[in-house]
Amino acid sequence: MKYLYEEQVAPGELVEISPGVLWLTMPLPFELDHINLYLLRDKAGWIVIDTGLGTSTTKSLWEQVFDQLDGPISGVLVTHLHPDHVGLAGWIADKFDVPFYMSQTEYFSARAFGAGKNGAPKTRDVRYFHQAGLEASLVTQLTSGSDKGYSSVVSPLPVSYSRLKHGMVLTINQQRWQIIIGKGHSPEHVCLFNQDKKILISGDHILPMITPNIGAYSTEPEANTLKDYLDTLPQFKSLPDDVIVLPAHKLPFMGLHQRVDELIAHHQEHLNALTDACQQSQTVASLLPVMFKRELSNGNMVFAVAECLSHLNYLVSEGVITRHLNMNGVYEYIQG
Ligand SMILES: [Zn+2]
Repeated sequence: MKYLYEEQVAPGELVEISPGVLWLTMPLPFELDHINLYLLRDKAGWIVIDTGLGTSTTKSLWEQVFDQLDGPISGVLVTHLHPDHVGLAGWIADKFDVPFYMSQTEYFSARAFGAGKNGAPKTRDVRYFHQAGLEASLVTQLTSGSDKGYSSVVSPLPVSYSRLKHGMVLTINQQRWQIIIGKGHSPEHVCLFNQDKKILISGDHILPMITPNIGAYSTEPEANTLKDYLDTLPQFKSLPDDVIVLPAHKLPFMGLHQRVDELIAHHQEHLNALTDACQQSQTVASLLPVMFKRELSNGNMVFAVAECLSHLNYLVSEGVITRHLNMNGVYEYIQG
């Protein structure tokens, strides 16, 4: 694999990757401290690909970007519903009153998460963590947060959208961008491929240096998102290997086929390690050290449990391991 740049651009700065394709970053207040966004030249201005978290910091950086551009924003396209991607989509799309593009599942999921639990009890969330075998005090900590997490960092979404579907082609200033849907990291994640420019905007579906989180979260504890992910990765090997991949985190790179193989191998290693560990009866909690070598903070714990569970759901569905609910209401997993 080859990286096209040695380091990240400073937030708010614009880098031309190819004529009419600009790269910029916005800061994130997490361990992963940035997100890459892209701008595509349109006839009437610029189309924004992903938007950053809905915070005042990101807004003021965007204001600086708007000032630097030689035209207005003419559309907003979001790869998937996660807050660092969709955070300011509504703010930008409604400020310029322009079309807003998203896939259907991502759009409506984002609207639903934005609306919160709407007063529904948290019993199911508590059960999800309890069944994973976490200590009661930790379960309380993880489930006692406010219902407003998502909407606190996502500005109100536009109340209408333009639907992106797998296989369709968006023509932007005579450039053809093919929509390729990837699943597993999020339910209907949009990637954009331009054959002439040999550019793939991969969002979070394909990342260099780090692996996209593949989780089974409390919203759908039985989800087999790892199968979704492994089923929608190989299609990218039918694209030319010399495409420039523009990911949502870390650096633009070349070497798509190798990265797809590495991502598949990474999950296969985790599946093998979990299978070995399940020679004895295990719980999600007892298996976390098999997948994660470092100490997990509460923030990371939610992702770690979901990632571990997605692998276990995969192994159960493939018949490699079985699970049963023990007397304490915790799932135990064992080979055979
Ligand atoms: Zn994401």
